[in-house]
Amino acid sequence: MFKAPRGTADILPEEQAYWRYIEEKAMSICRQCGYGMISTPAFEDAGLFTRSVGEGTDIVNKEMYIFKDRSDNELALRPEGTASVCRSYLEHGMDNLPQPVKLYYFADIFRYERPQAGRYRQHHQFGCEAIGEASPVLDAEVIHMAITFFKSLGLANFSLQLNSIGCKKCRPAYLERLREYYTPLKDQLCGDCRNRLEKNPLRLLDCKKPTCQVAADESPKSSEYLCEECGLHWESLKRYLTALGIEYILNHRLVRGLDYYTKTVFEIQPFEGGSQSALGGGGRYDDLIDMLGGKPTPAIGFATGLERIVLNLKSQSIEVPHNNKPALFIACMGEEAKTAALKIAADLREAGISVVVSAGERSLKAQLRHANAVGAASAVIIGDDEVKSGTVMLRNMETGEQQEVQPDELKKLSAI
Ligand SMILES: [Zn+2]
Ligand SMILES: [Zn+2]
Repeated sequence: MFKAPRGTADILPEEQAYWRYIEEKAMSICRQCGYGMISTPAFEDAGLFTRSVGEGTDIVNKEMYIFKDRSDNELALRPEGTASVCRSYLEHGMDNLPQPVKLYYFADIFRYERPQAGRYRQHHQFGCEAIGEASPVLDAEVIHMAITFFKSLGLANFSLQLNSIGCKKCRPAYLERLREYYTPLKDQLCGDCRNRLEKNPLRLLDCKKPTCQVAADESPKSSEYLCEECGLHWESLKRYLTALGIEYILNHRLVRGLDYYTKTVFEIQPFEGGSQSALGGGGRYDDLIDMLGGKPTPAIGFATGLERIVLNLKSQSIEVPHNNKPALFIACMGEEAKTAALKIAADLREAGISVVVSAGERSLKAQLRHANAVGAASAVIIGDDEVKSGTVMLRNMETGEQQEVQPDELKKLSAI
């Protein structure tokens, strides 16, 4: 017997209500904020991600699904959403449109990680990108949008973690300072971090190993090494967030797992679970479009994992609307009754009423059990007598009451 590959999951009909709920809230917020929907391919040229996400990152080194197709093209299943949207922005000349261009997406994301609660090798993200504007007003708006989205889902008990990691002007001095700080502590660090010390010292700050965390707690803070431009941006952002009534926690260890971030980075973390269980996050990536061959174009975005959100909706006992139950179930006995049932169902569906027709040869009792199981409010029963009289028996599934009605009357009855 085949099973779904490790780290993947089927989303069964009874689970789908959560997904539709999240998608509707996401789309409604995006409409309110002037974002247009974009869909990009599930796989891209692998170079797009090695260049944007970064050669030294876990995503590129350990987690990306890379493969060669039959024409020897090196492709990768997308390990994140932003690079594809930026590639599309450039490919379609969106830099000629009024800026910023605001785009949102739902995308399957693929990463070869150790599967755990809310973490899958194929997972789903909702993300937003606002491309072509450097003002911290946009940072505040994107963060506000993310917070509003989680609140609109009914989620509570989360915090906004905030940091600024500077730009290519001020970061080198900070990285030098980080190296100085970490070099005497080298023996305490994990093997990965010892490598990062040379290649990518920023990554030392978000290592999950306990001994590395102790060292990171006392490390120099990037927000204290900002150049004038980054410092002004940082102060303005904090002022806008305060004006919007958004509380934030300054977290100097928040650097995010991708190399392309500049200035603002943020994460929404549930009170329980910490950084491993973030609901979503994002940041500014002012150099990414440039790195992909475009002219320098500032941008900011955020993304959330839908599986993670579903977990939190369940753990916070948030009810989502389930509307996949049919209004009517038609039970039928005998060959002529089956024909009548099909015709009545076709008529009712045309009138916008959801109907399930019983199929196969089963007793009336078994068919009514089925009506209960699918959650139909009413059942229509058609047997030989009903076929002869041209009527049907309508049964209230809750009370068991039955009455004889004309098929045409069903349209108004079941609409109630
Ligand atoms: Zn700077
Ligand atoms: Zn480490």
